[in-house]
Amino acid sequence: MPELPEVQTTVAGLQKILPRLVIKDVWTDLAKKNQRIPHFKETLKDLSFYQKFRREVSGKKVISVERRAKNILINISGGKTILIHMKMTGHIMVGKYSYDKKTNSWTPAPDEKNLALRDPFNRFIHTVFTLTSPRTTSRPSPYKGEEEFHLVFCDSRKFGTVKLVARSLLYAPGSMLHALGPEPLDKNFTFAKFTERLSKKLNGKIKPVLLDQSIISGIGNIYSDEMLWLAGINPRALVKDIPAVKMKKLYAGMKSVLAKGIDFGGDSTSDYRDVQGVPGKFSYHHKAYRMTGKRCSKPRCTGGILRIIIGARSAHYCSVHQRLSNK
Ligand SMILES: [Zn+2]
Repeated sequence: MPELPEVQTTVAGLQKILPRLVIKDVWTDLAKKNQRIPHFKETLKDLSFYQKFRREVSGKKVISVERRAKNILINISGGKTILIHMKMTGHIMVGKYSYDKKTNSWTPAPDEKNLALRDPFNRFIHTVFTLTSPRTTSRPSPYKGEEEFHLVFCDSRKFGTVKLVARSLLYAPGSMLHALGPEPLDKNFTFAKFTERLSKKLNGKIKPVLLDQSIISGIGNIYSDEMLWLAGINPRALVKDIPAVKMKKLYAGMKSVLAKGIDFGGDSTSDYRDVQGVPGKFSYHHKAYRMTGKRCSKPRCTGGILRIIIGARSAHYCSVHQRLSNK
């Protein structure tokens, strides 16, 4: 699942392209009549919502693009925000696509020069926004001079969601964004705040606590394994048992590993691709995640990487420098 660095990479890409463009139309092949899955109600997977969404966003101009936790926020004119969550396998790309009526599907247009969009991982296109540029403005995008192009949501497992929210209600009590913990890379997210957040789950195991979006937002399976490896903490360690010196290492490791993820353009162990359809390179720099059976790469450590399951999620850690008794 895309985590903070992947979502940030996508948002940074969209920020360069989308502002001032106009949404001409929206297409999806996922909308179902009488959507039964509660999680998909009020998303594009709900036919009546899709029809309303299409009416509401067509003709609107993109004002700005932001990230909050693992969510992409596309602010449009008229006071609304398109809220996208990529979930398991979703990723967003921008390019020139063409629609085939016979197969009811979209593929990169014949004159689309970006070959990365033709990568097989990029073929599961289930939602398409058609975009145009207002003729009166000069756009700072790679599509300058192009009449029409597309923002596509590629999602092989189809768990991703697209919603529309009034901007004034985005952070209202009870909303999805309201319940999220602080941003780990925020300058104001100090070590004191970090320990204060974790202290809400003193009896919890550190790995699931790091994944809990209401405690700290944006961290998932990959980066939690990597930050625990850096700090020398066992993923099963109880928060209350972690000594202050290791907590400091975890805090520093969290900041550095997330920043490194962004620097490498995210992680593509799974399906993630950036807006140009290109894989991120953090996948080549794992120390723990999916390194099961490999020797630990920490200098002078004699351990090997093990995999365990904690609360239905996998965790990878070093048998020596992350030993559970190693307080
Ligand atoms: Zn080790």
